[in-house]
Amino acid sequence: MKFFALLLSSVALIGAAPPPAQVPSEPYARLRQIVAPVSGAEMKKTVAKLVSFGTRHTLSSQTDPKRGIGAALNWTETRFKSFGLPTIRPCDTVTGRRVPNPTRVCDMVAIQAGTERPNDVVIIQGHIDSRVTDVMNFTSDAPGANDDGSGTAAVIEAARVLSKHKFPGTIVYAALSGEEQGLLGGKILADYAKAQGWNVVTVLNNDIIGNSCGADGLCDDTHVRVLSEGPRSQGQDELAAQTHSLGGENDAPSRNISRFLDGLADHLNIGLDVRQIWRTDRFGRGGDHIPFLELGFPAARLSVAVENYNWQHQDLRTENGVVYGDTIDHMDFNYLEKVAKLNFAALAAIASAPPPPEPKAEGAVSTDTTLTWNPVPGAVAYQVRWRRTDANQWQESRRFANCISVIIPKPGLAPGKAASGQVCQVVLPHARVDDWVFGVSSVSKDGFESPVASAVPGGAFKPYIAPKKP
Ligand SMILES: [Zn+2]
Repeated sequence: MKFFALLLSSVALIGAAPPPAQVPSEPYARLRQIVAPVSGAEMKKTVAKLVSFGTRHTLSSQTDPKRGIGAALNWTETRFKSFGLPTIRPCDTVTGRRVPNPTRVCDMVAIQAGTERPNDVVIIQGHIDSRVTDVMNFTSDAPGANDDGSGTAAVIEAARVLSKHKFPGTIVYAALSGEEQGLLGGKILADYAKAQGWNVVTVLNNDIIGNSCGADGLCDDTHVRVLSEGPRSQGQDELAAQTHSLGGENDAPSRNISRFLDGLADHLNIGLDVRQIWRTDRFGRGGDHIPFLELGFPAARLSVAVENYNWQHQDLRTENGVVYGDTIDHMDFNYLEKVAKLNFAALAAIASAPPPPEPKAEGAVSTDTTLTWNPVPGAVAYQVRWRRTDANQWQESRRFANCISVIIPKPGLAPGKAASGQVCQVVLPHARVDDWVFGVSSVSKDGFESPVASAVPGGAFKPYIAPKKP
């Protein structure tokens, strides 16, 4: 590519010769190794156990040792503890449209603290509660094998497999309650994360990830859908005018999580590709990533390629020869294993990499684009990526070693503040800011790359803060 060659020839550096970026080329090999023990058979045992609680409806018994949501949460706690992980049980007393009487709603959460950046958090979650046709029916058997025993089993399997490793960042494993009654458990955990001051880099919400055929006979066991919001739900009023002028409709952090998962799947060789769905959730429906989005935390939902609507939210019955109900025999555990592997590789990669920076792009009425960002602790290099405004995935990229050496002086630009190491700056000659979307990711010493943060309004992996009015 012509302008890329020009870019290379124009690289100049301030100060001493830069050290080469110390980045082994095999992070994907390590991720494949980490997720190799992930077991569909193990998750089948977990789903069978979850089903054995009869119903896990949020309004079911919290004290019965064998049946109901309380028993299911307690059993999940025992599993987490058996992996040597500390647990918490964030709760809230809720009354609402689907909770007629004040009810204690609790999540069961295990925390694997990061060894270097414990406040940088990546969350995997599924909802442990279940339902039948009538969302208020808390007595009938509601196996919830796939919705969302599959996501809960993946959360427990993630804890089993990843707790054997150490990561610089923190991994949170969450079984959420109250999803079917109005995304209650998601809100409880999002509020808890905010109260703790966690820097939530990514939330992977797994809801219905364990079947591969629809009621119409359409089957697909080689794709998983990743659903991500476009314009971010937070700060919309303030962001709208900027976005209208500068773009960024496709560059909320959640969308870059979607791109990250898509790129990761291509390197794992597990027979699974990502179908990026560019909407917050399925048409007219919701999930537990939404309360996180509302607080400004980056989050995406993973769900099967083909849903089977006869096998979710249904009373167990057979009508005119059609079998209804969310039972374990409808599930595909080989498929669930693949979706779990993609999840866990993403958790391991994101917990291994520093969070992405917050780049800004400038270059109006200029032949060049200038990207500027503050250094991220722990990053030894940055990957600058860019794509055409109508492309769905990053097309061009260039890795730069740490900030002192990435600085490319543009004629006439005072390099002083950059030389102090306070600011990273890259000038991309002949790249018109009008025609591309730019982004930057952080790279760890062992080569793990964070998701990309786009240099657009609202692109930062942080809750949006409106600029102060003068
Ligand atoms: Zn669900």
